[in-house]
Amino acid sequence: MNESLPVLLLRQSEGGDPAYLLGVPDLSPAAASAFQQLLALGVVLHRRVLDTWDPCATCSCGAEERRVRWIDSAPFAICPLSREDDEALDPGDLQLFQISLSRLTELVGRAAALDDRPEQVAPCLWRLGRLAGGRVLLLATSSSAVRGAGVFDRLKALDRSAHMTLIANMKSAVDTAALAERGIDVVPPDEAFMPSEPTRPVRVDLNRLLMVTVTSDPDVLEVSPLAFTSAYGGRALQLEPRDARVLNILAREADDGGSLATRDDLYRALVGRDDADAPVGDEQLEKSVSRIRGALCDARGMPRAEGKRLIAAVRGHGYRLVTPTIRVLIR
Ligand SMILES: [Zn+2]
Repeated sequence: MNESLPVLLLRQSEGGDPAYLLGVPDLSPAAASAFQQLLALGVVLHRRVLDTWDPCATCSCGAEERRVRWIDSAPFAICPLSREDDEALDPGDLQLFQISLSRLTELVGRAAALDDRPEQVAPCLWRLGRLAGGRVLLLATSSSAVRGAGVFDRLKALDRSAHMTLIANMKSAVDTAALAERGIDVVPPDEAFMPSEPTRPVRVDLNRLLMVTVTSDPDVLEVSPLAFTSAYGGRALQLEPRDARVLNILAREADDGGSLATRDDLYRALVGRDDADAPVGDEQLEKSVSRIRGALCDARGMPRAEGKRLIAAVRGHGYRLVTPTIRVLIR
């Protein structure tokens, strides 16, 4: 995988806990599947889909923000004054993620082949464990961790004989020198996470943990309900949130033994939790299923008329994903 992904997460964590990441990062295909893996591992948690966006750049409406409206599965920032100032948005940019610093440190510790569980010893500072050879490995998720220098004295007092290596993005050479005086080497994350660098005192092999597992089997529909992402035949589906929720229900039922998703469950999914009383009718559900069928066909390069072979309507009852034409994989 691309080692810049955990480096990116650590950089996002600089401001402290909780740390957030706005937008699906722009990644190579391999790193994009590693990102899916981080979601599956709970290192990155999908929090919500933004429903407001930046104000217009040039127009005179004076709005401090624009509402996001989804039109035909694509999000737009809507200017209150003129349609001309509406802006097409990338759905990925609207996703807000939280970074679990405890899970991230656990992942880094395991990737460094440590058996210990990381222990938080101060705000933004973790003792990951002891490397073969006795060196103690520390991780700072923010450079502010080193400002309370007393912390390191306490750590040294616990473990007087041990050499220590701190993985951290240090901002100040003075701080780095002060740590060196206490016998603590500093290694920046991008060096610690290098795939092969045997001369470094620490090697954190993230490749070992983040095997790329996204399947390119053309019949497999992968659904990641937490991440609001899905892929069919290895191609990501572009769905607006309400349609993604409907697909999640269809996938869950299919995974449960190829059974039917009832209209009631699908209505609830379509409306979402935020607005449970909003009226929803057959027509809206039909349109949603039709958009999902279209997205599935597009992913496979099939004519859209084929969509009814993928999601079957059961008159008066609901819909079901047609298995085994589609094989469902829920992450
Ligand atoms: Zn405007």
